[in-house]
Amino acid sequence: MFLDDEQAAQVIQKLDDLWPEPRECPACGKRDWTLANQIFELSGFDPGGVIHGVPVFPVIALTCNHCGKAHFFSAITMGLVPREPTEEKDAGAKADHHDKQ
Ligand SMILES: [Zn+2]
Repeated sequence: MFLDDEQAAQVIQKLDDLWPEPRECPACGKRDWTLANQIFELSGFDPGGVIHGVPVFPVIALTCNHCGKAHFFSAITMGLVPREPTEEKDAGAKADHHDKQ
């Protein structure tokens, strides 16, 4: 899912609120980040193959313009993705999610 201008501004505001200065890259020490205009997802890994029906973790990515180090922040915490999965897309994941609470 791509971010529109309003969502990108929302992320930048949220990062300003939550991530204290100096926002230095932990790899190279520079302070030059680019926000990707897309939500990515991290999913569980199974060495035997793709896992179906498991929840995914939606993230936004900031990349250091000097060394390429990427930082991920939860798209849920950023307010871009609802905390609960939608039933039509993640019915199996939702049942699994509730079992863990
Ligand atoms: Zn860097």
